[in-house]
Amino acid sequence: MEITDVVVHTLSLPAVESTKADSSQDACIVEVETDEGLTGIGEADSSPRVVEAIIEAPVSHDKSAGLKEVVVGRDPFDVEVLWNEMYDRTYFYGRKGAAITAISAVDMALWDIMGKALDRPLHRLLGGKHRDSVRAYASTLFPDDPTDTDHMRREAEAALDEGFTAIKFGWGGFGRDRRNDLELVGTAREVLGEEFDIMVDAGMVWQEDVKGAIKRTNELDRAHDLYWMEEPFYADNLDGYRRLSEATETRIAGGEEEYTLYGFREFVDRGKPDVLQPDVARSGGITHLQKIAALGAERGIPFVPHGYSTDVIVAANLQLIAANRNAPLLEYCVEDSPLRWDLVEEDLTATDGYVGIPDRPGLGITLNRDTIEEYRVEL
Ligand code: MG
Repeated sequence: MEITDVVVHTLSLPAVESTKADSSQDACIVEVETDEGLTGIGEADSSPRVVEAIIEAPVSHDKSAGLKEVVVGRDPFDVEVLWNEMYDRTYFYGRKGAAITAISAVDMALWDIMGKALDRPLHRLLGGKHRDSVRAYASTLFPDDPTDTDHMRREAEAALDEGFTAIKFGWGGFGRDRRNDLELVGTAREVLGEEFDIMVDAGMVWQEDVKGAIKRTNELDRAHDLYWMEEPFYADNLDGYRRLSEATETRIAGGEEEYTLYGFREFVDRGKPDVLQPDVARSGGITHLQKIAALGAERGIPFVPHGYSTDVIVAANLQLIAANRNAPLLEYCVEDSPLRWDLVEEDLTATDGYVGIPDRPGLGITLNRDTIEEYRVEL
């Protein structure tokens, strides 16, 4: 089998809020085509235009090529070789960030093609499934206005109504004022009751303020019982992660802004996180998320892949979660965006707080062409 083309669909809602930490406002969907008529689907969670350029760019140097130049004419079953070649040939502008997100999308599509060619779900190519379904946690944002406790009440009630048993609030106006933070999380706790798991995603708000993060994490956990504190600092602040992790009983989660096994090895060794959250559409595709999950398993750290965009990411995460024993939870974005809910034909919705692992070939999804046409943005 030979790869014949890589097609990028840049999708966007008519209006994107520039300060909202919501990846479901646009999407970069990649399709890898082959001479046998099989097409693989992938996604890059980054600026779609930037990813498009990385895929389409002509060769400008041995270590500076576009991904299409690397993979067209090659066999998708050489996925590990192709991952390494894409990494090597983007090295001057790659290693972390956008180049790895673009590689992630192509890599996901290659795995999808292999599953379809073998007529097997991806987890059967990754070693089988440890579970038939996974507990999902509703993932949403804090209000921009840190005094808006009504927002917390609404989001918590929706999660309860939909049958979830865990919820994460992130970004927005969190972290600016300790009294507001306590009230925001306290409102959610009041609605959800004692048994519900509540995670907080600080959205890097403390940046370099390690002592501040320690104090606030301990205070919030004592007052309202946190399941984890996520991404307190910039991903580069590895010593901050370690100091916080060592100073609190609260689980510390992170990794959505980290890349490849190389980045996660540093994160684990120096940052001492309690939960690893690589994003399949950013951190290295199926190929490197498998290695990152294995690193977590070796060190006794849960793998809870990040995902806050379309069902393409949800589908990939379900296969990765099936194939890894240390994967207890699915991030389940509840943003009200058509790109979140209408991009694939299949039903991947949560029932009673759980999502089933699909057994369809590859990623087990079909793109909804009407949604693609409706939200496609041409250059
Ligand atoms: Mg996060």
